[in-house]
Amino acid sequence: MINVTKTFLPPQLEYQNILKRAWDSNWITNRGKLVVDLEEKLRAHLEVSNILITNNGTIPLQIALKLFGGRGDIITTPFSYVATTSSIIWEGCNPVFVDIDPDHLTIDETKIEAAITSNTTAILATHVFGNPCDVETISEIAEKHNLMVIYDAAHCFGVTYKEQSVFNYGDISTCSFHATKLFHTGEGGAIFCNNEKYIDAAFYSHNFGHDGPEKFHGLGVNGKISELQAAMGLAVLPYMNDIIKARKKCTDTYNEGFEDSDLQLLKIRKGTTWNYSYYPVIFKSEKELIKVKAALNALNIFPRRYFYPSLNQITYVDSAIKMPISESISSKVICLPLYVGLEENELSLIINVIKDNLC
Ligand SMILES: *Cc1c(COP(=O)(O)O)cnc(C)c1O
Repeated sequence: MINVTKTFLPPQLEYQNILKRAWDSNWITNRGKLVVDLEEKLRAHLEVSNILITNNGTIPLQIALKLFGGRGDIITTPFSYVATTSSIIWEGCNPVFVDIDPDHLTIDETKIEAAITSNTTAILATHVFGNPCDVETISEIAEKHNLMVIYDAAHCFGVTYKEQSVFNYGDISTCSFHATKLFHTGEGGAIFCNNEKYIDAAFYSHNFGHDGPEKFHGLGVNGKISELQAAMGLAVLPYMNDIIKARKKCTDTYNEGFEDSDLQLLKIRKGTTWNYSYYPVIFKSEKELIKVKAALNALNIFPRRYFYPSLNQITYVDSAIKMPISESISSKVICLPLYVGLEENELSLIINVIKDNLC
């Protein structure tokens, strides 16, 4: 079976050797040595000033929204994983969708200002498939209207934009370390921000608001990652350069294979060093997508419809909202298998099946 992704597992012995440190200290959660070690290594690896690692990539979105008031209208993208929208609603805020740029698949920055009202408190946009939003324009708009900017950077491990980590942009950026993501801890995530005030607040929030055992700084939640998960991160991290190299090779093979086809491929924003996190292809129609998907499934090949449906169409969102570009792309896009260990002959098979089934 060929799935859209396959979790990279480090040699088991290397994982066990790291775990031994947790056994030796009889300490498996509540910010032990392994969590602190992983944070330090990630800070250096990613070249970010602040990082707080968490138990998944959704809780950082919720914490960020809560820090910035937890109310009002949040300008957001309809083309992302459901967590982007569900976090907004879960936190009691109201999503205000702005349609996407059909080439980069990120929020269309030219349409943001028209959506701002006196109720708008923040912008929460996704760097889709690791492709950065137009962070400069968004920053200008946010400054002019006094809005906070949160980036759902779940797909962005290792991405740089204009020579620095994409996590450095916006007031807060978040990442997911889920097993299906590029870098992983099984379940996990992180919150990044340059502002010490916010990282401190996030730190208290992710541990029930504790300020020592008997005092509370404020309201909090349980966003703590365990030592067992941190150990996985420490075991995976040394392989990141190899992982990205292997994925680049698969991506190059796909690109070559589709050179002479009419498939629409992802346009990476200028100034980006990308991480090869996903390989989306956009068909001419949903009909064509369904035909190709069925042909691949028949051979036990399972691409995923990332992202479908467009988030303005999920049941708990006001159904009157129309996002024509996002709806159209959502109905026609699929992410192809991409992982370490995907063989050249498997890639050729996928490419040929797709080309043979285009309408
Ligand atoms: C994976 C993902 C999340 C959620 O991360 P978890 O670690 O699964 O909680 C949020 N946003 C986007 C865009 C994602 O792809």
